[in-house]
Order: sequence, then structure tokens, then C-alpha cells
Amino acid sequence: RFISLEGGEGVGKSTNLLFIRELLEQQGIDLLVTREPGGTPLAEKIRQLLLEHTEETLTDQAELLLVFAARAQHIQHVILPALQCGQWVLCDRFIDATYAYQGGGRQLDQHTIAWLENTVLNGLVPDLTLLLDAPVETGLQRAQVRGELDRFELEELAFFQRVRQAYLLRAAQHAERFRIIQACRSLPEVQQQIRVALASLLPK
Ligand code: C5P
Repeated sequence: RFISLEGGEGVGKSTNLLFIRELLEQQGIDLLVTREPGGTPLAEKIRQLLLEHTEETLTDQAELLLVFAARAQHIQHVILPALQCGQWVLCDRFIDATYAYQGGGRQLDQHTIAWLENTVLNGLVPDLTLLLDAPVETGLQRAQVRGELDRFELEELAFFQRVRQAYLLRAAQHAERFRIIQACRSLPEVQQQIRVALASLLPK
């Protein structure tokens, strides 16, 4: 089984990733937890390039291609081998983040992304995608307090609104695998929504 966790800035992805991990491990599931961009030594280097480059501005196209370069490494070297061994994979961000950030945020052409998706993913789709959704202002406040927004300093609110809308559009277009979690509720309520969403994958 392949599960991806998605959401904008400051929606509680890290906290809830830990919660999901514990929940699945309690069930005795052999779980691999990984993340994008990253997940292999080389892909983690690409992540650093994406997040910390100072030499020159990264063009939107270069960002898109680097994200997919990292993903190609991650899929071939980590995700597919794990799934083939019968492990479950829990991935902190996957393909939908590209539609949200590079498609929605950066407004790159959907067809180009779809072409890259077909080429690089070759039919690999998560069985379940949990989308942590919250109003942009709420998330940005949380992320700002933690100093997580350096890279996006220059982006205006509209960028993050587009990211959120693109995620919600993906969720509507792929309703069969998406579960939207109302992430602005209290933590116990968020966790209850996650429990319900995961129940469909777990043995009765
Ligand atoms: O998931 P995490 O918050 O650690 O991601 C690191 C950063 O990379 C975030 O600011 C996220 O918005 C950004 N990102 C991106 N494009 C992607 C995936 C992540 O801009 N496809």
C-alpha cells in the first residue's frame, strides 16, 4: 500500500505524519516512511538545491525538472523496491505537491506536468492521499512563527491561495483516492478524521 500526505504550509503535516506512522505501526504494518523532494541521498541533495540555493534564482522550469529528477530517483531506488517487498510506503508529499506548487503556485502548464508524470511515474499512484487542508492565513501564521518560510519570502498570499486551490482541485479530480482532512480543527479532531480515512485500508 502506498499512502501520500499532502498540504500547504503550516497545516500540521509533520505532527500528523508521526501520528499516522504510529497508527500503522500499532497495526503491525511494515512501514517505510519517506519524503519528497528527497528520500534518497541524491534526491536529498536536489532538495537542498531546491530549498537553499543562493547562486542565482531558480527558474520555474528548472524547479519543476529538479522536483521530477528527485522523484525519479526516489521511485526507482526507494518506493518501488519497498512496495515490491510488500512494505507499506508513507510519503510526505508526492505527485500532487507538484500540481499544487509548480502547477498552482508557479502556474506552470498542467499538460507539461502531466507529461512528466506519465513519463516518470509510469502509472504509480498512491492508494490513499490525505490532504491536510486549512485556510492559507492560518497555516502561514503557524509556519511563520517557526521561521519556515524563508524560501517563499517574496511570494504573496495569492501564491499560497493558488497552491491550496490546486490541491483542492486535485482532490476533486481524484476523489477515489483523496481524503480531505479539515486541518484547522483541534488536534484530536484532526486525528479522528485521519483514523477514519485510514480505516478503509486496514483489515477489519
Ligand atoms: O514538505 P516540506 O514542507 O518539508 O517541503 C519543503 C518545501 O518545499 C515546502 O516549502 C514546500 O512548499 C516546497 N515544495 C515545493 N514543491 C514541491 C514540493 C515541496 O515547492 N513539489
